[in-house]
Amino acid sequence: MRILVVEDEVKVAAFVRQALEEEGHAVDVAHDGEAGLKLACLSEYDLLVLDWLLPGRDGPAVCRALREAGNRLPILMLTARDAVEDRIVGLDAGADDYLVKPFALGELLARARALLRRGGPALPTLRAGDLTLDPATRHVRRGGREIILSAKEYALLEYLMRHAGNTVTRSLIMEHVWDFDFDSGTNVVDVYINYLRNKVDRGHGVKLIHTVRGVGYRLDEHGE
Ligand code: CA
Repeated sequence: MRILVVEDEVKVAAFVRQALEEEGHAVDVAHDGEAGLKLACLSEYDLLVLDWLLPGRDGPAVCRALREAGNRLPILMLTARDAVEDRIVGLDAGADDYLVKPFALGELLARARALLRRGGPALPTLRAGDLTLDPATRHVRRGGREIILSAKEYALLEYLMRHAGNTVTRSLIMEHVWDFDFDSGTNVVDVYINYLRNKVDRGHGVKLIHTVRGVGYRLDEHGE
C-alpha cells in the first residue's frame, strides 16, 4: 500500500516511515501541511498519517481541504492533545481515527492496518488460478502450499493480484510498491519480479506472471 506521512518533526517522521516500510508499504513524507496537501492531491495514496501541529496549514486544515475536495483517503491524525474538544475538532475535520503522542509504534501500525482494511474495497482473499493471497493474514499459497515472501515481494505480488488480468507498467509498480522518489533508473522492479517468479511460478506448469514487452507485467491465470 502507498502511505503519505505528514509530520514536521523529522525524527518522528523518519521513525514512522521506517516502521511502515518494514511492513512492506511505500511511504512518502512531507514536513509541512502545504506540501502534504499538494502530494495528497497529486497522487493516489491508500492512507494519510497526518500530524496535528504543523507549520503553515495544520492537520485539521489539511483534513478539511481534502474532504472539501471530495478526497476520501483514510486519515490517521497524530496529536499531542488529548482533550475531548480536540478529538471532536479532528473528527469533524474529516479524520477517520487519531492517535495521541507519544504513541507506541505497535499501536500506530495496528491503527494503520485497521484503516487500510476499512479504506480499501474490504479485503477478501485475492485469487488467480490456484494462487491465493489473504491480505488480512498476509498468507500466500499456491496449490495449497504456503509461499514465504519478503515484505517487498509480498507488496509487489499483492499489487499485481489486485490488477490481475491487466498490464501494469514499471512506473506504476514503482509508485505503488516503492517510494515516489525512488531512483527509477534502477531495475529493481525486474529484480523483484524474478524473485517472485522463483517463488510463485517455478515448478508449475501454468505460469502466472507474464512480461509485457516494453511495457511492464501482467499477472494472469490465462497465460499469454
Ligand atoms: Ca508537529
